[in-house]
Amino acid sequence: MLEKSFLVQRFAKLSFGQNSVIGYSVAGEETVCQVPELNVCFDIGRSPHFALTSDIICLTHGHMDHLAGIAYYLSQRYFQGMKAGTILLPRELLRPVEDMLMCWRGIERQNTPFELKPMSPGQTYPVRRDFAIRCFATHHAGPSLGYSLISIREKLKPELLGKPGPELVELRKQGMEIQYRVEVPLVTFMGDTSAGTVFDDPDVVNAEILITECTFFEPLHRGKAKAGRHLHVDQFVEILPKLKCENIVISHVTRRSGIQRARSILRRRVGDEAMKRIHFLMDFDDSVDAGEVEDAGPTSSDTAE
Ligand SMILES: [Zn+2]
Ligand SMILES: [Zn+2]
Repeated sequence: MLEKSFLVQRFAKLSFGQNSVIGYSVAGEETVCQVPELNVCFDIGRSPHFALTSDIICLTHGHMDHLAGIAYYLSQRYFQGMKAGTILLPRELLRPVEDMLMCWRGIERQNTPFELKPMSPGQTYPVRRDFAIRCFATHHAGPSLGYSLISIREKLKPELLGKPGPELVELRKQGMEIQYRVEVPLVTFMGDTSAGTVFDDPDVVNAEILITECTFFEPLHRGKAKAGRHLHVDQFVEILPKLKCENIVISHVTRRSGIQRARSILRRRVGDEAMKRIHFLMDFDDSVDAGEVEDAGPTSSDTAE
């Protein structure tokens, strides 16, 4: 039986081969999704303890449920002797977030260091030779970005396969480009978004793991989805066939539906076969249905989420 207490917050953990997703995501309440193997956390929510270990935070947009904990994350890491995290964020949010962090320096009387990397759609942030983060514009309120964690490999050109090593060295000496670049989007995080061209982006379509919001599931909630620029299950069902992703993780589901109900609505729409690659982030073993979860927290409002 799920403990109904504000003192107990449970986090999801989904493992997919080499990478896993740890997180918590409920619309309007909190969204934070970590890929520990890649040292990245998408959004920071209220900065749960596990998120402190990620050196890179990718903020998608300015809604409180996605970035409230950023000052806490930085302060705790400084307090614990860790290096300042690197925070990627939409370029338009650079000034207000910087102002907020400077304000916190004064409040806390602590010279908390921070490193903000303003990002524009299409921009790539290189992390290592073999790993980069690329962002793309999503369709939500105000400036909003999604992020893709890209593995980069150099491979020998196919026409050169089988050629002996010394010959390849010689070709290279002559200035010939003997390798080509292969980019694989390992994990892509949409943040909050409505339907649109973002779902044609190759980093979205081809992601090995795609974490996407799908906030609303009830026919009555179509208007809410449109007003808040979120996905409704109707749109998700239309988008699904073009996604080549091995695994799709649904996040940001409203408490108005509840996970079990949301999943059964989706199953009815897409069938058992399609559901094999679809996971709900907050689908805990003993998760309960809408009514009971509703009882455990304050009622949802219609504020920006
Ligand atoms: Zn949200
Ligand atoms: Zn939002």
